[in-house]
Amino acid sequence: MRFVNKYIMYIMIFVLIIFVLPAFCTKKVVGKSEKGEKVEQNKEQYEETKQENAKHDYSKYGTIKLLHKENGQIEELPIDEYLYGVVSAEMPANYQEEALKAQAVAARTYTIYQISNNNGKHGEADVCDDSTCCQAWISKENRMQKWSEEVREKNWSKIVLSVNSTAGKIITYNNEAINAFFHSNSGGKTELASNVWIGGKDFPYLQSVETSGEDGYTQYSSEVIIQRKDLLEKLKQEYPEIQINFEESESIKILDYTQSRRVRTVKFGNTEIPGTKVRSFLGLKSTNFSINSEGDNVIFSVKGYGHGVGMSQTGADSMAKAGNSYEEILKHFYTGVEITTI
Ligand SMILES: [Zn+2]
Repeated sequence: MRFVNKYIMYIMIFVLIIFVLPAFCTKKVVGKSEKGEKVEQNKEQYEETKQENAKHDYSKYGTIKLLHKENGQIEELPIDEYLYGVVSAEMPANYQEEALKAQAVAARTYTIYQISNNNGKHGEADVCDDSTCCQAWISKENRMQKWSEEVREKNWSKIVLSVNSTAGKIITYNNEAINAFFHSNSGGKTELASNVWIGGKDFPYLQSVETSGEDGYTQYSSEVIIQRKDLLEKLKQEYPEIQINFEESESIKILDYTQSRRVRTVKFGNTEIPGTKVRSFLGLKSTNFSINSEGDNVIFSVKGYGHGVGMSQTGADSMAKAGNSYEEILKHFYTGVEITTI
């Protein structure tokens, strides 16, 4: 009798494992909320675009050589795989899908422009991973660690989708890849390249354009407050002859502005300094600033974030929220361009 009981128990356990447990698991999947189903759909879409991407033939642009600034190593990556790392480093994953796609196409175009116009500044490599030099880049592993666990997979799928669904697409002007600069926040109006990189040339597709909605982002306004003596000390490092009599009215004065109302020149006492230099000395977020004095402090009130040339990322997100496609966003920030498949 004991033997029979044991036998029945084994059979019951067997039945439980083979039939009952899987039924429970299946039920769980079937019982997913609408939100859950959407994730499943995205996954399918992602798989589809992943395959499409694998089919895209970039011919001579198949891989790029990426220089890691930190260790000096050069890594060779397929172009779209490299772009996952660029888009996820350059734009928050919670931005609109069309903004992320615009970022993917701008970054792909920038990369191909760098390959085609390689001036050898990175030796063997085509680009580096430094945002102040080329474009920011982050490995998938590091990127995933920075996101909280519950958004990790969703965010990564969104980044991959933005790159794969635009595979092969670049921005062209006269059938050539453009120098697709981009930045964080234009403060309402983008800037000409020649006003940022003094002596640099202008490009017909990089005009000054206006965008609304950027003031809704934290990057739009910032402030740097510095004591008079600290300001003088900082400027003396580069301009040893500088003298500022702070008691004099207009001892600090903005002398002129660029077409987009960014500061071109500031007079500090006996010395005139370009706005771009003031920005880098004082760590201002942009050259779109005003200056005020309050007691012993000098206050720099700044609008926007970045050099201001080309696409504004927050502007792109705000345009996407207003219902614009990635193509419309790119054509707004880059004048007279086409979106072409290479
Ligand atoms: Zn670089």
